[in-house]
Amino acid sequence: MLQRSALLSRDPAVVHGFTTRHGGVSTGPLTSLNLAQRPGESEAALAENWARVAAALGMPGAPVGLGSQTHGVTVLDGDATTGSGRVDLGEGDAIVLTKPGALIAVRVADCVPILLRAPGAVAAVHAGWRGTAAGIVTQALEVLTARAGVSPAEVVAAIGPAIGPCCYEVGDEVAQALLAVAPAHVALRPGPRRPHADLRAVNEALLRAAGVREVEQVGPCTRCSPDHFSHRREGEATGRLAAVIGLRERRV
Ligand SMILES: [Zn+2]
Repeated sequence: MLQRSALLSRDPAVVHGFTTRHGGVSTGPLTSLNLAQRPGESEAALAENWARVAAALGMPGAPVGLGSQTHGVTVLDGDATTGSGRVDLGEGDAIVLTKPGALIAVRVADCVPILLRAPGAVAAVHAGWRGTAAGIVTQALEVLTARAGVSPAEVVAAIGPAIGPCCYEVGDEVAQALLAVAPAHVALRPGPRRPHADLRAVNEALLRAAGVREVEQVGPCTRCSPDHFSHRREGEATGRLAAVIGLRERRV
């Protein structure tokens, strides 16, 4: 159900995981751990899937803050995640959380999920090619370090399962957009016909250029992996994976 980063696991105050498609109750093309509203999905299945994820993270019943993702650069305030169940934080592609007792998450199916941890604060980031080219991960890092009062060197990052350079063939528009923000040797791998982009490597390069020293890539290419939902492999009907991170309640 969950894949974890060794880097993020070092802080006992933080819980996190990148979901696989296994361990839920959804059916058909959403089998089985779909974590976003999709055509044909029931509210009951979605609620049960999220309850299972929160329990697997060791925070059963904790509220989960979610944004409506638009491939933009808006960073949402995760501290509005209160109560229980799924909490709509508005339109945005990254969330920063400083309040213990809550979870935040982004949803993906080939796009890049990124989790960041600073002392006392965490962030979740959704980066497709548009968000990557627009610098959403750098925006999230700026808000996170400001809220936590730390430097980027104190932040650690985990980049989860996403479409890899093996499968991510792109057109000129995408190739040029990515070449503009990251060195060519990480942005593109020449293919037999068209360029293939490595979105995870571009986001790692952006983080390192901003001063983050520890970055880990977790999990496989989603299009290659039968254990993950993939938009390129299965089309629009496929389910959504989640990258989830939260802060445990402080023990008194
Ligand atoms: Zn692949």
